[in-house]
Amino acid sequence: MQEIGHWINGKRVAGTSGRFADVMNPATGEVQARVALATLGELDHAIQEAAKAQVGWQATNPQRRARVMMAFGALINQNMDKLAEMVAREHGKTIPDAKGDVQRGLEVIEVCMGAPAMLKGEMMDSAGPGIDLYAMRQPLGVVAGITPFNFPAMIPLWKIGPAISSGNAMILKPSERVPSTSLFLAELLQQAGLPDGVLQVVNGDKTVVDGILDHPVIQGVGFVGSTPIAQYIYGRAASNGKRAQCFGGAKNHMIIMPDADLDKAADALVGAGYGAAGERCMAISVAVPVGEKTADALIERLVPRIEKLKVGPYTAGNDIDFGPVITQASKDRILGLINSGVEQGAKLVVDGRGFKLQGYENGFFVGPSLFDNVTPDMEIYKQEIFGPVLSTVRAKSYDDALKLVMDNEYGNGTAIFTADGDTARDFASRVNVGMVGINFPIPVPLSYFSFGGWKRSAFGDLNQYGPDAFRFYTKTKTVTARWFSGIKEGASLNFKALD
Ligand code: NAD
Repeated sequence: MQEIGHWINGKRVAGTSGRFADVMNPATGEVQARVALATLGELDHAIQEAAKAQVGWQATNPQRRARVMMAFGALINQNMDKLAEMVAREHGKTIPDAKGDVQRGLEVIEVCMGAPAMLKGEMMDSAGPGIDLYAMRQPLGVVAGITPFNFPAMIPLWKIGPAISSGNAMILKPSERVPSTSLFLAELLQQAGLPDGVLQVVNGDKTVVDGILDHPVIQGVGFVGSTPIAQYIYGRAASNGKRAQCFGGAKNHMIIMPDADLDKAADALVGAGYGAAGERCMAISVAVPVGEKTADALIERLVPRIEKLKVGPYTAGNDIDFGPVITQASKDRILGLINSGVEQGAKLVVDGRGFKLQGYENGFFVGPSLFDNVTPDMEIYKQEIFGPVLSTVRAKSYDDALKLVMDNEYGNGTAIFTADGDTARDFASRVNVGMVGINFPIPVPLSYFSFGGWKRSAFGDLNQYGPDAFRFYTKTKTVTARWFSGIKEGASLNFKALD
């Protein structure tokens, strides 16, 4: 059995705890490897070494740090197929989707190639007689990234790129379900010229996460995962005086107006609802058609599209639409939620519960399901299902649809499909959600903007990647300097303006 350890000071090292987590093959249900779960001692060693390496890295000029990002980006491109296969093997997503996972992470690295431009400070000369003020952005020191299973390449890259190009060292704690990609990315970064110790990959579970949150050397924590854990991590990191940004779960709605192109809306819903088996924080899980006629016409278009979807292992080729979910527990939970939807009176229009695939009977496959007549009091509406299940909530009017989105506790992404500019503009302006799509189902901002939800989809300040990430991973120091040539002023005990 393959044993996966950690990446410390530029080397793969075995774990010493004797504790492991199984890494499953979600398509077969078999254990394919086991990953070491670090002890607090191993974590402390990784952090202390990172702190030593960070001093030299911070002193390395920003242009040279950016060159490491350039070489890293080239290596990611060269290794695209290998990375995609690694992602698919542990996560279960299809190869084209896995390439998208790597690509959307690579785009953040591409922005980090221009990090020096983001790290410039501010300057005001002659703010008073002989007085200049300048503000510099300095790295926090050693920071941590804690990442989820559903984007094994993209989200670690969202953390690594901005943190490291800003001059920090990082402890990356990937999801124990998909540990291999992060270790390989660390290897590539070393090949790109990153000094040893600047990125340490420490695998583990709650023990390591709590150790990170309590460790006095760690200055900042970037977390992505489910809402209860995001809230917990934010609270504990903040109470220990650390800067924290913690991104959580979602329930993303798409409003379909009567004037929308319904074929395009149906195509968008199928892609955004079922892609990656619904295991995306930006998946659309609730369709909100406005008016009974729109709803009937939409369902009529959705059903044949959903029934045509091909579910299978990534190894079966590129015509597979989506793969298994991540664990048996996740599959059981999704099936339980579908049952609860039926019991609570929603209409199950497409039923994916009985899905079986010959030769993969023990895999964690769930067929695509579509619900109609869902109401906000039902469990399938209230919970983030994180599976291939789309719920339809029929709204009487645009205002009712908008209210539904506004009242939901999550605020990660949302979309509206309409031909009317005024409605689209009103929606974008009023909705209390962080990322909005207009005739665009998954509005993940490009890497030179920033990514983040509102309400219970994010805790803390500032978004991920883009300009916000450079603000998050740096702190501002402001210097007031005075030179005395030509100034005759004597001592003053007053707190006063500089003029
Ligand atoms: P998760 O919360 O179970 O795990 C995320 C990380 O937290 C992992 O590294 C895990 O080891 C650690 N962790 C888990 N339980 C912990 C505990 N009790 N104490 C301390 N650490 C703990 O999330 P997941 O199942 O890996 O990922 C899916 C979730 O992530 C979904 O809710 C999805 O919406 C969310 N997500 C959000 C975003 C976003 O940017 N908002 C992006 C991707 C995924």
